Amino acid sequence: MIPSPPPNNQPAEPRAPAWQRALREAFSRPRDLLDYLQLDPATPHLASALLRDFPLRVPRGYAARMRKGDARDPLLLQVWPQTREADETPGYAIDAVGDLHRVRRDGLIHKYRGRVLLVATGACAVHCRYCFRRHFPYAEQLAARGQWSAVLDEIAGDASIEEVILSGGDPLSLSDERLGELVEALGAIPQLKRLRVHTRQPIVLPERIDGRLLAWLDRTRLQTVFVLHANHASELDDAVRAALAPLRQRGIALLNQSVLLAGVNDDADTLAALSERLFACGVLPYYLHLLDRVQGAAHFDLPVQRAQELMRVLSSRLPGYLLPRLVREIAGRPSKTWIDWERSAPSP
Ligand SMILES: *Cc1c(COP(=O)(O)O)cnc(C)c1O
Ligand code: SF4
Repeated sequence: MIPSPPPNNQPAEPRAPAWQRALREAFSRPRDLLDYLQLDPATPHLASALLRDFPLRVPRGYAARMRKGDARDPLLLQVWPQTREADETPGYAIDAVGDLHRVRRDGLIHKYRGRVLLVATGACAVHCRYCFRRHFPYAEQLAARGQWSAVLDEIAGDASIEEVILSGGDPLSLSDERLGELVEALGAIPQLKRLRVHTRQPIVLPERIDGRLLAWLDRTRLQTVFVLHANHASELDDAVRAALAPLRQRGIALLNQSVLLAGVNDDADTLAALSERLFACGVLPYYLHLLDRVQGAAHFDLPVQRAQELMRVLSSRLPGYLLPRLVREIAGRPSKTWIDWERSAPSP
């Protein structure tokens, strides 16, 4: 007699959320991305060897928005090293914005009055070549390792703090269980009014906005602001737009910060298209950052005069609410530094 197979009464694996599966499937092998984009690995400016110290990470949905066969695609250039990344440029530091001195052991950075930034994790869904965080010693941050109690005590003990900014890395790299727990504890601190989430994930991994994430957002009493990070209109496809809709429906303010990047978005048409597309997705432009002078990113930098000129052109083309504020981060200042672009206009 053939024994019947044992009944399969193993409990089903709890299924990981779709965004975690999408993250696992992100491009991490350089050759796979090049093949997908039909690019020649010998393309002179694409420096694959530089992926060793800051490795490739590109969600497939983000790669799908890149133009096939275009080695200068503005999305590709944000995630793939160029030869010039290896240049040592004087004045471009490891710690471009002075945060290494500011960050406390528990992961808090309290630079500006009323708001405190929490380095919640070092992980990101995408690795951006121009980012200062590539040099950041996250492993040393306690909050990044998930111990919230010291952080919560610090915040509760400072009556001047009204807003907590979850940052990273990308705070949405944490699970919704962890985030839900943290946000609930923040909501219990009476003087807090606002919760801010600095994240690029809704742009590069729109799957991240799912029911579990909305559930903890729905539970908090804190007024919530999402500051997204997109640099080019092509990053904002219909999947991104759809992912943002439930945030808007909840009355969550959606803002965007961009970095001005040579070769990616350093012309008025591109910046105007970005503002227009953001608004079509329900997002207002907030900051346009001059590049932090981080080692390895000098080739993305532009003279400030060029940035000012771009702002003048933009201001003549866009409604005022679609103009981002041009800023630079200067260590030791009480806020981001607004760069004036009007006064430097040539007299009529
Ligand atoms: C940029 C930044 C903030 C937020 O500044 P806003 O001007 O309010 O957007 C807060 N803390 C730190 C450490 C920052 O770098
Ligand atoms: S912190 Fe933001 S800009 Fe930096 S690598 Fe992560 S997603 Fe990119």
